[in-house]
Amino acid sequence: MIKVTNTYLNGKIISNKNNEKFELINPANEKIYGFLECSTIKNVETAISSAKQSQHKLASLDIKSKINILRKILNGIENRRNDFAEAISLEMGAPIKLSLTTQIDMGLDHLKNTIDVLKDYRFEQTKDGYSEIRVPIGVVGLITPWNWPLNQTLTKIASSIAAGCPIIIKPSEYSPLSMRLLIEVMHESNIPDGGFNVVNGIGSKLGPVISQHPDISMISFTGSTEVGIQIQQQAAQTIKRVSLELGGKSAHIVCDDVDLKKTIPIAINQCFINSGQSCSAPTRLLVPRNKLGEVKEVALEHINTINTGDPLDPVTDLGPVVNKKQYNNVQRFIDKGINQSIELLCGGLGRPDKISEGFYIKPSIFADVSNKSFLAQEEIFGPVLVIICYTNIEEAISITNDSKYGLSSYISCSNIQTGYEIAKKIQAGQTIINKISRGSVPAPFGGFKMSGNGREHGIYGLEDYLEVKAII
Ligand code: NAD
Repeated sequence: MIKVTNTYLNGKIISNKNNEKFELINPANEKIYGFLECSTIKNVETAISSAKQSQHKLASLDIKSKINILRKILNGIENRRNDFAEAISLEMGAPIKLSLTTQIDMGLDHLKNTIDVLKDYRFEQTKDGYSEIRVPIGVVGLITPWNWPLNQTLTKIASSIAAGCPIIIKPSEYSPLSMRLLIEVMHESNIPDGGFNVVNGIGSKLGPVISQHPDISMISFTGSTEVGIQIQQQAAQTIKRVSLELGGKSAHIVCDDVDLKKTIPIAINQCFINSGQSCSAPTRLLVPRNKLGEVKEVALEHINTINTGDPLDPVTDLGPVVNKKQYNNVQRFIDKGINQSIELLCGGLGRPDKISEGFYIKPSIFADVSNKSFLAQEEIFGPVLVIICYTNIEEAISITNDSKYGLSSYISCSNIQTGYEIAKKIQAGQTIINKISRGSVPAPFGGFKMSGNGREHGIYGLEDYLEVKAII
C-alpha cells in the first residue's frame, strides 16, 4: 500500500494524519494500491497566503533566473523519465510506450518552448508616445485533470513561472503519483519558497476555495465543460481572469483523394490513443459517402491489430480507462448506441475477450452515424469512434462545425492548399493537416465555443498570465 502525501506548502511537504483519504485504484486490475492523503481547506488557505507572500520574489525574478528554474525542472524530469512513465501508467492506465514518450515529451516541450519564448520576450516596450509594460497577474490557481497529467500541469507551470506568478496547483486526485514526482523535481528547481504550492484532493471540495478566494488573481482550468462553468461562476464575484481548456468532439475530414489504406488506420489510432481519453481526440471521422464500404473494410482489418492489455507491457497499444465511473459512462454510450440500432461495426459492451478484470473497453466503432445523434454530439472520452458520411466538402465543413465544441480538427488530403482552405472555414482552435498530432510546435492551443476560452503554449500561454500596463 502506498501512502501519497501531496500537500506541498511554502517549500515543504505537509502530512496531516487525520485527513480524509482518497483510495487509489489500479485501473488495470481494479485493486486498491494505496491512498492519497487529501489536503484540508485550511491547507488551501495556507497555500494561498504562502503564495501571496512570495509574490514580490517571483515578480522580481529576472529572465535568466526564470530560465534557470525552467531548465532545472526540464532536467529533473528527464533524469527520472522511467519513474514518471511508470507512475503515469499505474495511476491512469496509459500504455507504457505512450507514457515513456508522448505523455512526458509533450510536457517537456512546453518547458523548452517557454524557455525559447523568454529568451526574446520584451516585458517592456516603448511605443509612439507611451510605454507598454507586462507585469505578472498575481497568484494563480491551476486546476488540472488526469488524462495527460504532465502535459497539462507543465504548460501552466511553465507559463506561470515565465510570467513571475506564484502557483497553487490542484491536480487531479486520479494522477497523484506523477504529481508526487513533480513536487520532488520542483523542490530542487530553486523556485522561491511559496512560489509553488500543491493541494490535492476532491475537486468539488477544494476547488471552490481556490475559485472564490480574493487573493487569487487568475484560474487556469483544464477539465470538463461542466466543471469549467462552475469555476467561472464561482470566480465571477472577485472578477478573476478565468482561462478554460475544456472538452471536445473533434472532427477528422478525410478528403476523397487520399489512400484510405494509409489514412484510416492512422485516424483510428489518433482517436484511440490514451484509450480515447484526450480532449482533442478526432472522435468524428468524416468520410465521403461513396467510400464508406472501403473505409469499413480497412477499419475492421486495422482494429484486429490493436493490442489491448496491461499498461506496463511494452507491446500494449490500448490500456484501460482511468476509473470505474469512466468505464460505466463509456458503457452507457455504447449501450444506448446499440439500443438505438446505430450500426456497430466492431467492439461493443463489456471487456475485450480474455480480459476478466480492469476498466478495459472494447475499441468500438459505430458506422454511418448521423451528426445529430448523441454519439456524434457528446464527448464520450473512451475508445469509441463514430464514422459520419458526407457528400461534398461543404457538407463536411458544415458537419464539422455543427457541434457545441470547437477544440481541434483534422484534415487528411492530398493537396495541402485544399486542406488549408478547408481549415480556414473550421470553427475550432486548431486544425492539424496530414499530421498525426500537433507535435512539439509552440502553436496556440485552446477552444472555440464550449471547448473553452483560453490559449495555452508558447507566447500565448505566457501572455495569459500577464497584465498589460500603459505608461503615458
Ligand atoms: P473534471 O472536470 O472532472 O476534473 C478536472 C479537475 O477539476 C480535477 O482536478 C478535479 O478534481 C477538479 N474539479 C472537479 N470538480 C471541481 C469543482 N467543482 N471545482 C473546482 N475543481 C473541480 O475533468 P477530468 O475528468 O479530470 O478530465 C476530463 C475532462 O477534461 C474531459 O472533459 C476533457 O475533454 C477535458 N480536458 C480538456 C483539455 C483541454 O486542453 N481542452 C485537456 C484535457 C482534458
